[in-house]
Amino acid sequence: MESSKKMDSPGALQTNPPLKLHTDRSAGTPVFVPEQGGYKEKFVKTVEDKYKCEKCHLVLCSPKQTECGHRFCESCMAALLSSSSPKCTACQESIVKDKVFKDNCCKREILALQIYCRNESRGCAEQLTLGHLLVHLKNDCHFEELPCVRPDCKEKVLRKDLRDHVEKACKYREATCSHCKSQVPMIALQKHEDTDCPCVVVSCPHKCSVQTLLRSELSAHLSECVNAPSTCSFKRYGCVFQGTNQQIKAHEASSAVQHVNLLKEWSNSLEKKVGCTLSCCYGIC
Ligand SMILES: [Zn+2]
Ligand SMILES: [Zn+2]
Ligand SMILES: [Zn+2]
Ligand SMILES: [Zn+2]
Ligand SMILES: [Zn+2]
Ligand SMILES: [Zn+2]
Ligand SMILES: [Zn+2]
Repeated sequence: MESSKKMDSPGALQTNPPLKLHTDRSAGTPVFVPEQGGYKEKFVKTVEDKYKCEKCHLVLCSPKQTECGHRFCESCMAALLSSSSPKCTACQESIVKDKVFKDNCCKREILALQIYCRNESRGCAEQLTLGHLLVHLKNDCHFEELPCVRPDCKEKVLRKDLRDHVEKACKYREATCSHCKSQVPMIALQKHEDTDCPCVVVSCPHKCSVQTLLRSELSAHLSECVNAPSTCSFKRYGCVFQGTNQQIKAHEASSAVQHVNLLKEWSNSLEKKVGCTLSCCYGIC
């Protein structure tokens, strides 16, 4: 921070060593660039007019200088040059595209200006150079809003709260099901217990006397539940009796005679059919 401290003293901007120091340090460092126009950051000291764009009047971003000596943001200059006869908005002189040059010296000076972090209102007390803003926001600022690391979670949290959120508050953090001990996202735990967990005790939908039924045992139970609806095993021979498993059992035990009669009828009709088929073959039918 040595260089930036020197920047605060008047005239420091014009001396070479601190500038050079700053340039070296930020060489290759990505710098925050607004989408359009200049910087709207909150600067620690009032910014001199020479650092302001003659078009958007914000602090210059990637300054370009015209022949007439006025400076514009790169994007503001591009907008001016897109008109048929571009004129300097400060002095009305015509702008010749080939005479516009990048003002890298001015750019370095601007990137060395001290700003308050843009998350100041959220609580960041940091003062830093404009050139360091992007790195600060990307890596350091405790008050930068970040998306939760879990893709399903759409919550945004401050960097300082992220670990707590991920470990203790995130609705998508893994929780252990108290019944089956499997890992389930917190948000799905209730549904898991209500509909999926194999180890939850459920009651028989047919309201039989079995009380300690696990969900994993339910389907096996349903096939033998005394209260489950079923049909008589002589149904295919014509028995229309319907009832619970229990009633079917009683019915089958007490209906031997009827069932034998049904069997007889069935075999008679079968014989007729076969006989008919045979006679058809001999052309009698
Ligand atoms: Zn501008
Ligand atoms: Zn001009
Ligand atoms: Zn910050
Ligand atoms: Zn989350
Ligand atoms: Zn479970
Ligand atoms: Zn049952
Ligand atoms: Zn029957």
